[in-house]
Amino acid sequence: METRVVFQSEQNIDAAVMKEAGELIRAGELVAFPTETVYGLGGDALNAASSAKIYQAKGRPSDNPLIVHICRFEDIYEICSQVPPEAEKLAKAYWPGPLTMILPKAERVPGETTGGLDTVAVRFPSHPVAKAFIEAAGGFIAAPSANVSGRPSPTLARYVLEDMNGKIPLIIDGGAVGIGVESTIIDLTGEEPELLRPGYITREMLMETLGTVGQDRTMMEAHPTGRPKAPGMRYRHYAPKGELTLVSGKSDRVAAYIREQCRLAKAEHKKTGVLCTEESLPLYQTEVFDSVKCMGSRASQESVARELYRVLRECDDEELEVIFAESFSEEGLGQAVMNRLLKAAGHRTVEV
Ligand code: AMP
Ligand code: MG
Repeated sequence: METRVVFQSEQNIDAAVMKEAGELIRAGELVAFPTETVYGLGGDALNAASSAKIYQAKGRPSDNPLIVHICRFEDIYEICSQVPPEAEKLAKAYWPGPLTMILPKAERVPGETTGGLDTVAVRFPSHPVAKAFIEAAGGFIAAPSANVSGRPSPTLARYVLEDMNGKIPLIIDGGAVGIGVESTIIDLTGEEPELLRPGYITREMLMETLGTVGQDRTMMEAHPTGRPKAPGMRYRHYAPKGELTLVSGKSDRVAAYIREQCRLAKAEHKKTGVLCTEESLPLYQTEVFDSVKCMGSRASQESVARELYRVLRECDDEELEVIFAESFSEEGLGQAVMNRLLKAAGHRTVEV
């Protein structure tokens, strides 16, 4: 199959592109599209065969459920059998936006879309292209991130093409995404609302709206005792092919440790790299590094979230073998950044 990439600006939605994309979805095909978090791989959420195609294109285990994207709040009642007041409050505060809610599913949502669960994940994205696409496609788009399972989520259409070329007919290129890490997931089916995956909408923000919000204990742990409640968090997540270690401590000590470790690795002819920030970049200007990658500025957690998956992809592109990354505080959006970094590092951490 030939994969076409069509550019679509946020400001000026092209009705012909949306019509074509909508028709492909209605015919059971898949279309990749931009959202404010990462690129999604979309199919008709109400068509079991489309969901099966998504799993196949990604190489994703079929018990790892998809998120259903809607483009009008009211459509939540079409796919959920119960919508508690908490869901309405959260929607008022944060939809459209990067928040996914887990609710009991309505019968019409096929088990193929929800990984066999009787709950469904629902999100109303804010990206203008995503909204227009969902509407053109009939209102219910099942979409996980548009990467091959085990690779970082794509933040540029170029990365979608790398992973999906020849597997899907169309990629809508909306440019670079704004946020860069996947949506926050909150489960509203238990006794108390519970955060399952950290994202741009922080736990503090959720508590402002709902009062108490629990947190899945397994979310940030290296050796969780229980089973994570978001099935996707159970799978081995993206890790670069090289060995990635997170280093925490005072900036100059961190840099000194990383320089020394990379000097030793270089002596063994390993390809070395460091993932740092604008603030620490000057501390890594030595030949012990084959690659020095800047993932934003410490002054802006948003910038780090936006650059994270790009620098991780580049580690593999450049075949780095020994990689060190600086750590971040788990405050606010830092929790999402550290959750993804810890998974990428297989929880290999050093404090200096
Ligand atoms: P992705 O869009 O690729 O980040 O994948 C969606 C993730 O949402 C899955 O990996 C699950 O962890 C989570 N998810 C989707 N549906 C449910 C559900 N019904 N219950 C709990 N977690 C879910
Ligand atoms: Mg994903």
